[in-house]
Amino acid sequence: MEDCLFCKIVNKKVASDIVLEDDSIIIFKDINPKADVHLLIVLKKHIESVEHLVEEDKELISQMIFAAQKIARQIGVAKNGYKLQFNVGRDGGQIIDHIHLHLIANVK
Ligand code: AMP
Ligand code: ZN
Repeated sequence: MEDCLFCKIVNKKVASDIVLEDDSIIIFKDINPKADVHLLIVLKKHIESVEHLVEEDKELISQMIFAAQKIARQIGVAKNGYKLQFNVGRDGGQIIDHIHLHLIANVK
């Protein structure tokens, strides 16, 4: 997807502050954090949104949630908790049309 910002980040054509990466997922800091911790868990595969998921994407979505759990533990927010949020479509607040999961936490 040539014009997709998150595809460009995945392909390292646009810089980002990466905190974790594996074969199917990249996690980087949100450029405009809305809390003390605000990470984006991004699938490397270009899928527009939750609304565009198909049955065969089951495993990838599962990996996103386990990646969130892993990074939350690594950065020390797992104990006190965090929010995971998918924005879906314009009315759902989605601006970037490449599926991503927000991990948000306010650290006390
Ligand atoms: P959404 O509204 O769910 O589509 O969220 C997109 C998020 O991407 C927003 O929270 C933006 O602040 C964030 N964002 C946009 N451009 C970048 C970028 N270049 N690097 C990191 N985060 C970004
Ligand atoms: Zn994309």
